[in-house]
Amino acid sequence: MSGPINAFEMAQKQFDAVAKQLKLDAGVSEVLRWPMREFSFRIPVRLDDGSLKVFQGFRVQHNDARGPNKGGIRFHPAETMDTVRALATWMTWKCAVADIPLGGGKGGIIVDPSTLTVNEKEELCRGWVRAMWKNIGPRNDVPAPDVGTTPQMMGWMMDEYSRLVGQYTPGVFTGKPLGGGGSLGRTEATGYGVIYTVREAMKHIGMDPKKSVAALQGFGNVSQYAAIGFVEMLGGTVACVSCYDRHDKKAYTYSKKGGIDPRFLLSIVDEYGTIDKKKAMDSGYEVSDGDKWIEMEADVLIPAALEGQVNADTVKKMSKGIRIVAEGANGPTTPEADEHFKKNNIFNIPDFLCNAGGVTTSYFEQVQNDMNFYWSREEVLEKLDQKMTSAFHGVLDRSEKEKVYMRDAAYMVAIDRVVKAMDLRGWLTGNA
Ligand code: NAD
Repeated sequence: MSGPINAFEMAQKQFDAVAKQLKLDAGVSEVLRWPMREFSFRIPVRLDDGSLKVFQGFRVQHNDARGPNKGGIRFHPAETMDTVRALATWMTWKCAVADIPLGGGKGGIIVDPSTLTVNEKEELCRGWVRAMWKNIGPRNDVPAPDVGTTPQMMGWMMDEYSRLVGQYTPGVFTGKPLGGGGSLGRTEATGYGVIYTVREAMKHIGMDPKKSVAALQGFGNVSQYAAIGFVEMLGGTVACVSCYDRHDKKAYTYSKKGGIDPRFLLSIVDEYGTIDKKKAMDSGYEVSDGDKWIEMEADVLIPAALEGQVNADTVKKMSKGIRIVAEGANGPTTPEADEHFKKNNIFNIPDFLCNAGGVTTSYFEQVQNDMNFYWSREEVLEKLDQKMTSAFHGVLDRSEKEKVYMRDAAYMVAIDRVVKAMDLRGWLTGNA
């Protein structure tokens, strides 16, 4: 009987396939198939009505051979240890492919944050830190916001940690608010990072960015800045974006003849990424079905909303003109769609390379916190461009050298770097 997809089994399968191609030693594979450390704990919180409620918390540290573990904390009602394990594993590969000196971590709490008051959310955040503070820190594990958590929550968590250790320690959490230890450029980082890799892919396959047209799924943080970057940095046209409408409980695609204006749509989108339909229509936007984005006449497809959106069914509807798929979201492409890309010579920029701009800028935030010296937005984005461009070419070179698909090449680069760090630290000789 086949149950729901287990993310951790998927992460292990992906790893096993590449480990086989790399002829990785069985013992080394065994180290990397599993997280090094896992924490599971209970967090009691006094609710505003006076009752005491206990929440389940997690933190998984997958591998810290290259540096402190790094990864978000999710507040989600369906959180499980296996989801956290999978996401921690993927963070190890993402940091390694971006070549930032960090390992992979992830955390979570089983909770729907929208059911809590502000005071209860703060208590829960502080409770998570009280359970974990001895095992996190700028030198061993640095969490960040993720699904259901916000910069404000990182501010509370950083404050709790600082109180417990007895000194202001901003570098223990990233994704903090601006003015509270956050970095300029973090908001744009993931979307712009996507565009830096698209720019390099276009150079590689010989596309003129000014004549290119993109279709995007989503209009949240990643998609907003990917759309702006596509128009303003590359000079291209964005045919459409899409979003889930929280009021109608339905997804829509927004398009306009001659291309959408991402800055205008940014002015009419709410904090959850829902575009104001009426204002868009009043301004001449065509609003169509949520699936329409994938059928749009375009040459670059940027799924930047959810996982599993480019799959065996939807890939058949994809415009024949698509030459690049840039994965802004985590896990948007299923293995069936990958096969379609390979057969049709579509250039893929895999998620953990394409969307690594977020974690790279989190790393910059931590560096600035440690130095207590803050960079300008331009400086942050320039450094981000250098990192993303160099990460892209590292993967492209490997893909050409080994004649493998970009996703496999990204895994190979990442796994090699982690294995090398473990080896250099003496973890594989049996003496460590
Ligand atoms: P977000 O919550 O800000 O935005 C998500 C967007 O997707 C919203 O516009 C929402 O309406 C839309 N959406 C949801 N369901 C949809 C559907 N069925 N059809 C069309 N649109 C739909 O999220 P985000 O931060 O932009 O993240 C998007 C993806 O990128 C996620 O997979 C996330 O894990 C990944 N990611 C984000 C970052 C980051 O820094 N924000 C970094 C790396 C990866």
